[in-house]
Amino acid sequence: MIFRWIGYSGLCLLGLGVGLTQAGEQSDAVAQPALVVIIDDVGDNWVQGSAAVSLPGPVTYAFLPYSPFGAQLAQRAFSRGKDVILHAPMENTHDRPLGPGALTADLQHDDFVRVLSGDLDDVPHVQGLNNHMGSLLTTLEPQMQWVMALAQQRGLFFIDSRTTADTIAREVAQRQGIPSLQRDVFLDHEQTTAFVHQQFLIALATARRQGFAVAIGHPHSVTLEYLSLALPLLDEQGVRLVAASALIMEHQERLRLAQVQAAHVGG
Ligand SMILES: [Zn+2]
Repeated sequence: MIFRWIGYSGLCLLGLGVGLTQAGEQSDAVAQPALVVIIDDVGDNWVQGSAAVSLPGPVTYAFLPYSPFGAQLAQRAFSRGKDVILHAPMENTHDRPLGPGALTADLQHDDFVRVLSGDLDDVPHVQGLNNHMGSLLTTLEPQMQWVMALAQQRGLFFIDSRTTADTIAREVAQRQGIPSLQRDVFLDHEQTTAFVHQQFLIALATARRQGFAVAIGHPHSVTLEYLSLALPLLDEQGVRLVAASALIMEHQERLRLAQVQAAHVGG
């Protein structure tokens, strides 16, 4: 499933010449900073969802389970070669409503797994999951272990949306050997072009500093309009837009090479 992204990566690498000439010092194509853009909360609104899945390039989409248009939009995203993930509703500390398929702290193991399995089954072509809300649930060790165990069973990756500084979700994923990422920047807390632009610049700076960055936005008009203009210009700025699965694949490949090297050094 993951390998369909090679087509996009190849295109990005072709476009790389521009970025490399401008960046100057970059000596190898793989070193070009990568940006993952995830659009959360897709599925409740057909018009916004359709506009979202029409964004150019390998944007990643997180679908709410049992949402009126989620399955249809996920199908459309998939047919356009985009990554589809589940936006798993998880209990928050503010008692904000979670909608159907909610994972709450009062669910015992078997029920918890049944609810999450149902959520995953509801989103066609699902490759991974991230958390919708979750400021309470992502701080709970057993529940995060149950999430990662199911991710392992189904061969899914996990992205911690980091809706609280106290989240342990990524840590648990890493401990259980689940390929994972975490959000660096939210693009649209405030729905103005100026704010989205400022956050997008922070995402680019983060990508240049750490080699990659994960930005999360929502299907608000202001966000979609901004991204439809900004994403095609990324290559010129020496940054690659990559799907979440592609970045995870790169990280795993780097890890594998490091292990091979370590084994050689070790004798
Ligand atoms: Zn959400």
